[in-house]
Amino acid sequence: MSGLRVAVAGAGLGGLCLAQGLVRAGVDVQIYERDAAPDIRSQGYRLHMDGRAGLALHTCLPPELFRLFLATASRPSRKFTVLSAQLRVMHETLGDPNRDLDKPETLSTSVNRGTLREILGAGLRDRIHQGRELVGYEQDAHGVTLRFVDGLTERADVLVGADGVNSAVSRTMLPAATIVDTGSRIIYGKTPLDDETRRLLPSAVRDGFTAIIGGRVGMAAGLVEFRQPPPDAAAAIAPGVRLSPVSDYLMWGVSAQHDRFPEPDATMAQMGAAALHAVASTAIQSWHTNLRALLAKAAVEETFFVRVRSSERVPAWTPSRVTLLGDAIHAMSPARGSGANTALLDAVNLCAALTAGGTDVFAAIGEYEARMRDYGFAAVEASRQAETQTARRGNPLWLWIFNHLPKPGGRGDRVH
Ligand SMILES: Cc1cc2nc3c(=O)[nH]c(=O)nc-3n(C[C@H](O)[C@H](O)[C@H](O)COP(=O)(O)OP(=O)(O)OC[C@H]3O[C@@H](n4cnc5c(N)ncnc54)[C@H](O)[C@@H]3O)c2cc1C
Repeated sequence: MSGLRVAVAGAGLGGLCLAQGLVRAGVDVQIYERDAAPDIRSQGYRLHMDGRAGLALHTCLPPELFRLFLATASRPSRKFTVLSAQLRVMHETLGDPNRDLDKPETLSTSVNRGTLREILGAGLRDRIHQGRELVGYEQDAHGVTLRFVDGLTERADVLVGADGVNSAVSRTMLPAATIVDTGSRIIYGKTPLDDETRRLLPSAVRDGFTAIIGGRVGMAAGLVEFRQPPPDAAAAIAPGVRLSPVSDYLMWGVSAQHDRFPEPDATMAQMGAAALHAVASTAIQSWHTNLRALLAKAAVEETFFVRVRSSERVPAWTPSRVTLLGDAIHAMSPARGSGANTALLDAVNLCAALTAGGTDVFAAIGEYEARMRDYGFAAVEASRQAETQTARRGNPLWLWIFNHLPKPGGRGDRVH
């Protein structure tokens, strides 16, 4: 496989991580991204990162970028708490104090998604082609022809569809693959932390990820408190890398089944940030005054709506020069904080398969796909079960609670 040319559709988390690993291994890789610029869409939310992300990033990134990832992660959180809407503590789970939360394999932290994406894109500028929306491809005996929306084409030996939910690559490769709407809806928002908003934080939120249980809706809340401001960390650790300034914030998500929000689903899907923020505020209007005040202090324009979707398991297919990773093949509910972690795991596994030194590209891809289908759809199923429990209890956050409780003798590794 020497001289392999890999094309990646999608410069998201999985595609960029794969590209970093391939470049480190000396493989020629080009990344084609639909968006005209990396910051064209809000990337504002917090991502929980676990050992899968830790191992993938540690393996694929150059050492200084891995250090930068850790330096710009949030303080590790050591507790998971469930609160009532009036801030009564209903449950607390402490993480294992002996666990090294910064070690790649036992990592447990959270990051700002946009910052992580900037780190993943570092050093790849000449290889990332923005504004190139892939619409299809054709394979022949010698390679793949990629077709773009502007009518232009490119050639590669291997095409990786890392183009997220509604993947164009998946549409051609696995036309029968389906994604279902789980019925869950989440209004996400962000409240910047200053002296005033810090005073409003329930003490549980300062110590770790928190689920708040209301009647019809629930809320998840987690801080992103950078260990170092991203631009300072970049200047100290990787001076050639530019990271955008981002201030500490509280991420919140008001969630419910779609019929439990006061506005019809179709209306919510069309709403702008201010209207969504108003719906979230109304949904918690009888909650504790500090929670209402935290929402009132939100960066309203950063509020957005998520319809939770989940991929159906796809039976095994015959390996070819074209493969998929991340949400393009196994999109899942964010309830278990698993989608990005699984996409990064795919990236490191596909990178290992393509650079293992074999001569048969189909066999390498087939080996990756067999493993990926197992753990990828298992992660989808786990998230789906969680959603089902949720619907039964009427409150999505029950699912977060059950999934974050450590199993007896476990390591508490679901604590955010
Ligand atoms: C609100 C929210 C919170 C979440 N929280 C967590 C969490 O805490 N932990 C966790 O593990 N996961 C979380 N997830 C899931 C996680 O964000 C996704 O699973 C992850 O981003 C998938 O990575 P990816 O590389 O497959 O796709 P993406 O990161 O979505 O990247 C896909 C890229 O492909 C590009 N693209 C799309 N179509 C084309 C095309 N035709 N041609 C070229 N480019 C294209 C897109 O513009 C995008 O840049 C969350 C998701 C949401 C919505």
